Amino acid sequence: MAGAGNAIRGSRIGAGPMGEAERGEAAPRQTVTYFCSHDHRSVVTFSIEATAPDSWDCPKCGLPASLDSENPPPAPKTEPYKTHLAYVKERRSETEAADILDEAVALLRSRRKAGEIIF
Ligand SMILES: [Zn+2]
Repeated sequence: MAGAGNAIRGSRIGAGPMGEAERGEAAPRQTVTYFCSHDHRSVVTFSIEATAPDSWDCPKCGLPASLDSENPPPAPKTEPYKTHLAYVKERRSETEAADILDEAVALLRSRRKAGEIIF
């Protein structure tokens, strides 16, 4: 009896409007395994068109996980000197941002000059 029920169900899914959704699920996918420092393996499924990120937050413990099982990212620790380090990093990135901005402005200016010559 159970077999007959399954057959009816199967034919309904195949013939019904669910056919489209079924095809959608069959879209090519890639599975990427991430490793965290707690030895958790997290298999994440992406669309084949998507680029899998290098790191992923472990869904089990929330720590950053990487593609390299040999070198999972270290667990972030909040230590007293971290604040100072974070401050230094912040200053550094500010300087870098300013440099990038200068470059962008210089590039924009050179493009404008070139534009003036052509037109
Ligand atoms: Zn984990």
